[in-house]
Amino acid sequence: MPETLDDSLALALAAPHLGDGPATAEEIGDGNLNVVYRVSGGGRSVIVKHAPPYLKVVGDAWPLSQDRVRIEAEALALHGELAPDRVPALLAVDLDRAAMVLEDLRGHQVWRTQLVAGVHVTGVAEQMGRYCARTLLGTSDLLMDSADRKRLATRFVNPDLCAITEELVFTAPYTAAESNRVDDAAAELAASLRGDAAMRRAASQLLWEFRTRHEALIHGDLHTGSIMVADGDARVIDPEFAFIGPMGYDTGNVVANLAFSAIAHQELGDGFAGQVDEYLMDFWGALSEEVRLIWPEDHPWDEIFLSNLLEDSARYAATELVRRIVGLAHVVDIDSLPDASRLRAQHRAVAAARSLLLGPPVRSPHDLWSRATTEDVP
Ligand code: ADP
Ligand code: MG
Repeated sequence: MPETLDDSLALALAAPHLGDGPATAEEIGDGNLNVVYRVSGGGRSVIVKHAPPYLKVVGDAWPLSQDRVRIEAEALALHGELAPDRVPALLAVDLDRAAMVLEDLRGHQVWRTQLVAGVHVTGVAEQMGRYCARTLLGTSDLLMDSADRKRLATRFVNPDLCAITEELVFTAPYTAAESNRVDDAAAELAASLRGDAAMRRAASQLLWEFRTRHEALIHGDLHTGSIMVADGDARVIDPEFAFIGPMGYDTGNVVANLAFSAIAHQELGDGFAGQVDEYLMDFWGALSEEVRLIWPEDHPWDEIFLSNLLEDSARYAATELVRRIVGLAHVVDIDSLPDASRLRAQHRAVAAARSLLLGPPVRSPHDLWSRATTEDVP
């Protein structure tokens, strides 16, 4: 397998999907793991995404299986069937070159970018709620034939990418791991987490659940940087972390990343936080509605399911809130704040995580959201 994809290979892979005439390849990736090209020619353009056999941010020190291309492509295809129009079209896959060709979402922006800029995009939060309901229930034993579901599980064994999450989300932030990145001003905050036995215990229990609860084919990295948006059109990209895991990990990631946005805009005092509050309610409202709609009639426990999912979302949101403050990968929503409000926002995120993880189970989406975005800092 080739270790890198150069411009000429990207051009060759894209060629069948472009118009006639000369073509150009431009590297556009901003991710940590992969190389992403936009290839344009004959009035058309496509995206070519290539997975090197190592973790790009740390170089060849952390080898990473290129099987993630197959997993990403199969997850895109399956989630795209279950939630039509919510993913970019998969145009081709070349496993020998560890690359795939995708529809170019040219008019779309990464949702996080729009959230940071305070740009309202209509309909997207609601579409994300429906996407979660359909992909999660649709790949679970609730809606799948039992034998098909067991076969599905064998296709989504994703040890290398799960290892990244297990280490960087559930382990490192609660220890003195070298991979952690902490602002100098937040050193005390990070130390308080390392000394917090109750938080370590709760995170370690969630690690166990992440590894053992084989509920559905989850996206595995559903933050607002994995969602591209235009008015009335949300598309989920980058499901290379997909595996059979706990549903609440996906929904919790959406919640935590919206919470970062709300906290940041509250700190800025620019009036956009109220819009983000609406996104959360639209997200959970549409998710609940869609779950009730597609729920199998002969198993009448949908309300119990929804309240369990809400509780799990709160707990996984908490680990996401922590790891984006003291772990390796931060979020620009918080990192771009001016110094004083950044430190306050970091304290607020960790305080929110403590409340969600150590407090009583959340009782409603309002309860979840008010604890995730609380302005009380002890
Ligand atoms: P990585 O796995 O390295 O994080 P992503 O799949 O997240 O890579 O892609 C990196 C960036 O490339 C995205 O943030 C987005 O800006 C751009 N991108 C990815 N897929 C598409 C697409 N289908 N259409 C347009 N832009 C895309
Ligand atoms: Mg990625």
